[in-house]
Amino acid sequence: MAFLPAQYEKIIGQLVGHRITLVAVSKTKPVADVQEAYDHGIRDFGENYVQEMVDKAAALPNDIRWHFIGHLQTNKVKYIAPFVHLIHGVDSIKLLQEINKQGAKQQRVIPCLLEVYISKDETKFGFDEAELKALLQSGIIAQLPFVRVEGLMGMATFTEDNGLIRAEFAHLKELFDQLSGFHSANIEISKLSMGMSADYQFAIENGTTMVRIGSLLFGERPYAKN
Ligand SMILES: *Cc1c(COP(=O)(O)O)cnc(C)c1O
Repeated sequence: MAFLPAQYEKIIGQLVGHRITLVAVSKTKPVADVQEAYDHGIRDFGENYVQEMVDKAAALPNDIRWHFIGHLQTNKVKYIAPFVHLIHGVDSIKLLQEINKQGAKQQRVIPCLLEVYISKDETKFGFDEAELKALLQSGIIAQLPFVRVEGLMGMATFTEDNGLIRAEFAHLKELFDQLSGFHSANIEISKLSMGMSADYQFAIENGTTMVRIGSLLFGERPYAKN
């Protein structure tokens, strides 16, 4: 299935009043679908796999802002460092250090979001609340001048229990609000990436600033490669 413009209009209508950024998640979808979405005006695309993002970036217009939203392995940072717009799921100090190293090689500061573990799914990643606060106060990030921490990212539990999803998003928003006063040379917590096709409505209710939507825009993915 290709890009679904009617869905796009509907979603944009819900986001625009809140000034929420839509990241169109194009993972597993062909270049032609991304081009179609681009032709409808989308410039922010999210990908989960390094090689796929590199290949698409080479094949598509260069004013696209590429968001890496998957679980990033340190040995692959170098491939996306030259062009990535925002890395959403930074979940370890080791990864921050590698992003800094590759940013230095490219002489570019790489924007990142710290992933917060808010769900009950053990397959998900991220810092817990205490680790996050400790990291921000540690001074470690100040020593990584080619990294800029711009906010937080989180994923709710995969569940039918909407109350649980709402509670997890509310919790992340509260943490975001607490930390949004936190500024230093290369930390400014101003972006909150939460909400996907199944739960973005709850994310809007809870003050998200960025949603990552795939299947509603491009149709279901053929296999469960999340
Ligand atoms: C795949 C993915 C999305 C988009 O999922 P949909 O349910 O298709 O909207 C959003 N965020 C992350 C981290 C993903 O891996």
